[in-house]
Amino acid sequence: MAQQENQVTPIDDEGYVVDTEDCEARELAHRERGTSRPITVVGNPVLHRECKDVTEFGEELAQLIDDMFASQKTAEGVGLAANQIGVDAKVFVYDCPDDDGKRHTGYVVNPKLVELPAAGRVLDDSNEGCLSVPTAYAPLARPDYAEVTGQDAQGNPVKVRGTGYFARCLQHETDHLYGYLYIDRLSKRERKDALRQMEEGTPRYPVVPND
Ligand SMILES: [Zn+2]
Repeated sequence: MAQQENQVTPIDDEGYVVDTEDCEARELAHRERGTSRPITVVGNPVLHRECKDVTEFGEELAQLIDDMFASQKTAEGVGLAANQIGVDAKVFVYDCPDDDGKRHTGYVVNPKLVELPAAGRVLDDSNEGCLSVPTAYAPLARPDYAEVTGQDAQGNPVKVRGTGYFARCLQHETDHLYGYLYIDRLSKRERKDALRQMEEGTPRYPVVPND
């Protein structure tokens, strides 16, 4: 823990978090300090309500972030929200490529999606999946650019932006913390189909059984 305390989140000239440097080393450091936990799945109440804002920026938060990186790695995810390991707190982590295939690694505490003007918005209708809806995928149109504001583990304000798959990830993970899964954005029929895919598949990582 001690090495981390004075660490300052690097910010670029435009005020965004630098999350494309030393990805390998940062991801490894987080998950080596963390403990992997099983993933909650659709139907678990913690996924279907808004998570609490984080108000304390101490050791417990740092440990949660480390545990989330460890869990994300075990489940081979590109993003993970705290309620996906059963924790009621607005935090997500990510390790995800963007439109150019560039890797982004980081986390956001108390994220808020920035409302961007509809003019010039380009929708991308690629497939989406979620560790909490194991083995299911469905195409879902989302803006191909996204920005999120929030805080780092010390409570400093941060901004993160992304394109392509990473933009999708930022939107998907923020949704989680407000109680929404991507299947909630599908048509009734597509949602049913995703749940059927989940029923028929077997997750490749530990999950928390629903009662
Ligand atoms: Zn998800």
